[in-house]
Amino acid sequence: MTMSRDVRPEPYHLGLIGWPLAHSHSPVLHNAALRAAGLVGEYRVYPVRPGRGAESRLEELLSRLRCDELDGLNITIPYKQAVLPHLDSMTPTARAIGAVNTVLRSGGRLLGENTDAPGFLADLHHLGEMDRGSAVVLGAGGAARAVVYALNRAGWVVHVLARRLEQAQQLVNDLRSSSPKLAVEIFARPMGMHALETLPPALRLIVNTTPLGMAPDHQASPWPAELPFPPQAVVYDLVYNPPETELVRAARSAGLRARTGMGMLVEQAALSFEMWTGHPANREAMWSGLDSG
Ligand code: NAP
Repeated sequence: MTMSRDVRPEPYHLGLIGWPLAHSHSPVLHNAALRAAGLVGEYRVYPVRPGRGAESRLEELLSRLRCDELDGLNITIPYKQAVLPHLDSMTPTARAIGAVNTVLRSGGRLLGENTDAPGFLADLHHLGEMDRGSAVVLGAGGAARAVVYALNRAGWVVHVLARRLEQAQQLVNDLRSSSPKLAVEIFARPMGMHALETLPPALRLIVNTTPLGMAPDHQASPWPAELPFPPQAVVYDLVYNPPETELVRAARSAGLRARTGMGMLVEQAALSFEMWTGHPANREAMWSGLDSG
């Protein structure tokens, strides 16, 4: 999907549409990647307040991308699905997930992609070798869709647990109908102690996609303190603020490998950057940007 481009004299104009964006890490990540690649340009935020006027602002920004004024846009909450009617086409990944976080121009047409799914998988590999088997995904919102899709394509049997069972069921139904060639089974379950206790004993992977544990609610965790972790599982928490969430802390102190979601954030950004510019994204420079930002 990467569009090869020579180094060009005009600056790159990249950006992010969403709300709220005041604390977004994306400008730091992408501006570090631009500098490291020796490219001139800027990545900036385009906050679009939801409500009256949001649709036309969205259309206006996308038409600037269509006519070459902008070179690439990321889309975040709450527009990852709202943006779909404004696009000309979607990649199979974005179509299957039903959400877009990256828009690029291809031959004057707007193409929607989802880099959360490959970004998650790429960062999951930093936890080292793991045997495929059963995984549990906690939460069934936008990020869960990308995670469940990615895991399923990678051969995992996935159990989706959500406090609203109908949301988990919807996710499973949507993925089954948009991607009939799903590798293995996915199941919907209600979130709670009972469902967690009755998961397959050989559970290999626990992924949190709920905001539980996110600052300032540092003490919260989607995994009950009184429930032991399956000893052979690894834990991935999409939450990246604080750098060590309660879930990750508890898993590590039980001897499990565990990781928070900053690496996924860097990976999804790197993949978007590579699509827009055709240049490799320097992940190390992006991490350093975060450290010094
Ligand atoms: P979302 O669409 O709002 O989905 C959140 C999910 O968590 C929903 O299923 C929601 O259920 C559930 N949930 C919320 N509060 C809960 C609680 N107290 N108990 C149980 N379930 C709860 O949000 P999202 O876009 O998927 O993002 C979810 C989290 O992932 C956020 O913390 C976000 O920062 C993080 N994230 C990280 C990355 C990364 O690159 N690391 C990427 C994307 C997202 P209801 O619908 O019933 O509220």
